[in-house]
Amino acid sequence: MAGSRFLWCILLGCLAVSSYAQQDSRRTLVSFTPAIVEAGSPVLVFVTAPEATAVEGEWLGRKLEFFKRKQKWIALGGVDVEAKPGASTAHITAQTAMGPVDLSQTIEVHPAHYRTGTLTVPPKFVEPGPEERKEIAADSDLKAKVFASSESEPLWQGSFRAPVHAPPTDSFGTRRMFNGKLASIHKGMDFRAPAGTVVRASNSGVVVLARPLYFEGNCVIIDHGLGLYTLSMHFSHIDVREGQHVAAGDRLGLSGATGRVTGPHLHWAVRWKGAYLDPAKLLRLNLNVVQ
Ligand SMILES: [Zn+2]
Repeated sequence: MAGSRFLWCILLGCLAVSSYAQQDSRRTLVSFTPAIVEAGSPVLVFVTAPEATAVEGEWLGRKLEFFKRKQKWIALGGVDVEAKPGASTAHITAQTAMGPVDLSQTIEVHPAHYRTGTLTVPPKFVEPGPEERKEIAADSDLKAKVFASSESEPLWQGSFRAPVHAPPTDSFGTRRMFNGKLASIHKGMDFRAPAGTVVRASNSGVVVLARPLYFEGNCVIIDHGLGLYTLSMHFSHIDVREGQHVAAGDRLGLSGATGRVTGPHLHWAVRWKGAYLDPAKLLRLNLNVVQ
């Protein structure tokens, strides 16, 4: 009996050593794509920890939700457009039979050089009256509900694709003055789509909102799971209904000029757990590597 207990201790000791060895080589266990992270970057996190029973993470106040594909744990998250440049810590823990293994990493958030612009829109969008304020508040409540209940698994498959065949602008992150007064940050990408251009789902997911809103006009929001959403605004016509599952390329509606606009275009935004990410960067992110 004593002998077998002794052997068991040696075995446990070996496992503990191998766990420490993993901690030492942790740089090879966790990777971030892209390698250079800017304010507004979507980021794919890979953790190679086949022995882990779960991987948990938190970065800049947002929970990284990992799912397993083959031997890797994967999370798709990002850094908000308004994040402060500088060093940040991605807290990552792998749960193993031997206990938790800390895989935390220091990530530098580089400044992104977004522009400043001015816009003129009808005064009701800058100084809404009491009726409009009521409508805006109801819209906010509705959106808060929608954003609070994302699917608990990834619904996207492969890379995201542009929602429309129209020239994109690099307007994401632009600091805007509306009518010389109200400053805001443009948290989406505008496509120069003439009214009536077909808008398609950029990836698979569930339509969680498909209705007119005050600022957004006719708006379609797709939940891609684990807190990731795409938002399309200012449609002249909506073709989908709330609750509908869509695949990449499915028709959502027609672009237009409803809501707070200066003319017809498609405003397309990417939101992850309250952070607004650069849609152009998401379109460049190769998610086909996640199989
Ligand atoms: Zn826009």
